[in-house]
This record gives sequence, C-alpha cells and structure tokens, in this order.
Amino acid sequence: MSYRIPFNKPALIGPELNYIADSVRSGHISGDGKYTKQCHQQLEIWFGVKKALLTTNCTHALEISAILLNLQPGDEVIIPSFTFVSTVNAFVLRGAKPVFADIRPDTLNLDETLLPGLINEHTKAIVPVHYAGVGCNMDVIMSLAQQHNLRVIEDNAHGLFGKYNGQWLGTFGALATQSFHETKNFSCGEGGALLINDEGLVERAEIIREKGTNRSRFFRGMVDKYTWVDIGSSYLPSDVLAAYLYAQFEAYESIQSKRASIWNRYREHLGEWAEQHNVQLPVVPDNCEQAYHMFYLLLPSLETRTRLINHLKERGILAVFHYLPLHLSDMGRQLGGQPGDCPVTEDLSDRLLRLPFFYDLSEADQMEVIHALWSFEED
Ligand SMILES: *Cc1c(COP(=O)(O)O)cnc(C)c1O
Repeated sequence: MSYRIPFNKPALIGPELNYIADSVRSGHISGDGKYTKQCHQQLEIWFGVKKALLTTNCTHALEISAILLNLQPGDEVIIPSFTFVSTVNAFVLRGAKPVFADIRPDTLNLDETLLPGLINEHTKAIVPVHYAGVGCNMDVIMSLAQQHNLRVIEDNAHGLFGKYNGQWLGTFGALATQSFHETKNFSCGEGGALLINDEGLVERAEIIREKGTNRSRFFRGMVDKYTWVDIGSSYLPSDVLAAYLYAQFEAYESIQSKRASIWNRYREHLGEWAEQHNVQLPVVPDNCEQAYHMFYLLLPSLETRTRLINHLKERGILAVFHYLPLHLSDMGRQLGGQPGDCPVTEDLSDRLLRLPFFYDLSEADQMEVIHALWSFEED
C-alpha cells in the first residue's frame, strides 16, 4: 500500500541532475573521478580528518575497517546489539567474535558503564554507533580504549554534522564510517565513506579499497607500477553517484537546517502529549549537538506501538519501528546470544517508533502527523 505521508523520501535539491549529466559527459564515470575527489576534499575540510574515502556504502566502509584491524579468529569486538546488521557483520566476516553490549535507556547509545565488564585480553576494538545522530559518551569510550590499547571505529551512519563536547562525531575513533543510503541525511541512493583519523591507516585503506592494489599510489606517481600488494575488494562508487552526493554536500546548510526545524517542530508539539501518554521523546544530552537524523517515540508497550502504527496507517501515515536486537537474531543466537543478555535493548526495541522525517516533509503534512498522534486514544 502507498502512504500519503511516507516515512522517508530521498531529497532532490536541484543540481544533482546537472552534476550527474556533467559526470556522464566528462567521460569518467567509474570511481575516483572529479566528483568523488570533490566529495573527499569536502569531507576532509569539514571534519579535519586525515583522509576521507567514498565507498559503495557504509557496510563496505565497515568491511574496510575490519580488514584494517587485522582481526584473527578469537579476537573480540564490542558492538551494541541495537544497531544495523552491517555494524556487526563486517567484523564477523573477518572471523572475529562480536560481543554484544546493551544500550543506555536515555540516548539508546552503547552503555559505556558496561564496557569494563566486557573488555578482556581478546578484545581488539569497540564500535560505538551514534544512534539518531546523538553522540555516545566518547570521553569514557576513548579513555577505556586507550587504557586497554583498543581501536575505536565509530559507526557514524546517523551522525554526520553531530558533535560531542564540541568535537565532530566521526573524528574520535581511528576510523569512522558514513552512509549515504537513501534514508540518511545526505544521499546518493547507495553510498558511504570511510573517515580516517589515524594517518598510519591511510595507505593501506586506499589499497584495500582498490582491490588490494597500489593503484592510488601509482596515479600519484609514488610507485612506477601498479600491482597486487594486499587483500582487498572493489569499494569505489561510480563518479555518477558522487556527482549526486556532491550536490547534496553543497546544500548541507539547507538540508541540516530543514531537518532541524522538522525535529524541533515534533519536539515542540509532542512534549505535553508525550507526558500525558507516558511516551519518552529523544534525549539529547547538553554536551551533544545532534545531527537531526530521526525523530522517535518510546511508547509504553509493544501493544500500544502496534495500535499506534495502525492508527497512523488508517490516516495514510507510515511510521516504522527500528532495529531488532541482533543478539537474538538467528545469526546472533548462533553466535551465542541469549534472551536477557541486553535487557534494555530487548525492552526498548519493542517500543520504539520512528515518525516520518525527510527533507521535503512539509509543515502541513508534519502537522497532520502531529494531529494524528494527538487524536490517538489509549484503550
Ligand atoms: C544505514 C546504516 C548502515 C549501513 O549503511 P549502508 O550504506 O546501507 O551500507 C550501517 N550502520 C548504521 C547504524 C546505519 O544506520
């Protein structure tokens, strides 16, 4: 069925189609063309990272990260259970054992207070996910990582332009991964990026991204032949997609301010309603500037959520739930996950509902969503 007010709609700012046409006419439509380079440069300028590399998607940026860690079977990586499957899969593909961490009930981010109990001599990395673009407690995570000599890889798929203690999300870990999937703030359909903060990882990341060859160094004239030097795969997006993405980068102020006003409108009109209905709204700690990626409700029960989804559906509005606990998935159970391992995740994932949230959501349509919520009666 199609909804009058969908959950998501990809943004089309305007110049995307011109840039795509320009890219096609330029005759360079494979990876690392003009627009890809402009995207790299833009990310490096904005966030001050040592190197930014576009990838085919965030999943692949996570896979490059996992390869860069040289994980061996038996190595452990600490990851929240409440995340997208790729956050974990990338490390499982390298033979590592995921250790599922529970989340905090306020921000739904990895609960940093549990880390000391999860870190052991097999632990190699921590992968915080900045849920909804609100920063994890990076003070505690980074200091524990330093103390135990662990790598931190931020899954920053939600968090581009978010800050923690005034510092950009994606600049804390040795590596950070971004997504430009249709559902994210900035998109080119399918796309991603690897942000590299540890200079020592740059050269090998370029090699892994280029099928295990030193092609990037060859093009820079640093080696006189290009050859197979390491494991790798093909992680370069077409420059046609980078052209789409670059147009959205140019419009970043308008995209982020539009999303901020949508988020703030929900917050403003739902505050009182939420209190009356025992609904928890997103929590943004004072030391976090959020990235305005999503607006969610935590309802009192699964049963209320089901009734609310139907109530909105009857009014042509699509609201959706989010991650199911990964430790309880078929694969998670094969890896040893048990009910009760992550009680907060198990509870909250049943009660979370995401409201329509996208660049082109008009004020009138958003007010309809809000009125639909106001008219929801508890039985
Ligand atoms: C969207 C998302 C991904 C995967 O992104 P793709 O670009 O689709 O591979 C990974 N992690 C999180 C937290 C996400 O939200």
